[in-house]
Amino acid sequence: MEAATTPGLVCAHHHLYSALARGMPAPPRTPAGFIDILELVWWRLDRALDLESIRWSAMLGAVEALERGCTAIIDHHESPEAIDGSLDVIAEACAEVGVRVSCAYGITDRHGADGARRGLAENERYLRAGGRGMVGIHAAFTCSDASLESAAGLAVDLGVGVHVHVAEGAADVGVADRLRPLATDDWLLVHGVHLDDDHGLAGTFVHNPRSNMNNSVGYARPARFANPVALGTDGIGADMLDEFRVAYVRHREDDVTASPETAWEWLAGGWDLFPEARDDRVTWSPVACVDAPMDPWRLAFTTGVGPRTVEVDGEVVLADGRPTRVDADEVRARAAEEAVRLHRRLEDI
Ligand SMILES: [Zn+2]
Repeated sequence: MEAATTPGLVCAHHHLYSALARGMPAPPRTPAGFIDILELVWWRLDRALDLESIRWSAMLGAVEALERGCTAIIDHHESPEAIDGSLDVIAEACAEVGVRVSCAYGITDRHGADGARRGLAENERYLRAGGRGMVGIHAAFTCSDASLESAAGLAVDLGVGVHVHVAEGAADVGVADRLRPLATDDWLLVHGVHLDDDHGLAGTFVHNPRSNMNNSVGYARPARFANPVALGTDGIGADMLDEFRVAYVRHREDDVTASPETAWEWLAGGWDLFPEARDDRVTWSPVACVDAPMDPWRLAFTTGVGPRTVEVDGEVVLADGRPTRVDADEVRARAAEEAVRLHRRLEDI
């Protein structure tokens, strides 16, 4: 039986820093909405991060990506108590495992204008040193107009796009009007749930169906946008075949005439954002559809399809389902230790 091969899959929106969130203590009260989820979970977790926890979080996230045939990650990072050098830590962890990464630091005025300035400086430092990445903005609703303009200006100066959460929740009101004068085709607009159909923003939308359901923010209905669309996980792993399946069933739930071919086009949109991944090679485990491996109709209903071998840039980085450059068991053990430290710090935040 001949095995199926594809290029490396692309996760167009990830938060590698969230890999150690699993098992964290429950929030002080049950979040009642999206802003509550941010304030009680994610904005506490990001403050507890230091460079060591970022490193092991990224190592674990990169290993998990490789183990699911994802060879390229577009990451969006925030660690307000450990900003300087954080993007290098993520890039080095991914390089060690053998996964491609595009890094961005999500600037925000949540911690004052100085916090935004230091976030912007981290983007600039990393990119000017030759790092692959974009300029990050957390979201318009946590940034002043001056911060948005500074980030957009830096991106133009450095010849890269901006990676920003857009209208994920209803609180991001007026975001289209604020970003419209700044956004260009190389921007990554993440979520877009609460945008009008004719929002007028330039850029590629990243649809994160599982995360949107988990945060109860609503269905983005990405098929309504004229912009290109790609798929991301928003930090919930990097199993892109699984995200494709979720994207399809969420689409189908909204529109019974929806075809998995549309969700597959969104998955393929990742290759326009990270073209190098097209040169990577994933050999998948034999499944019921080996004769038509990339057939969206079959893959939409074939669960548990995993890679056997992954080649990145000609090097075998996963063999027999196991990473070759790092010991996955060791990474998991070290990450688990780091998670205990991280979760302990959360008690004081
Ligand atoms: Zn996100």
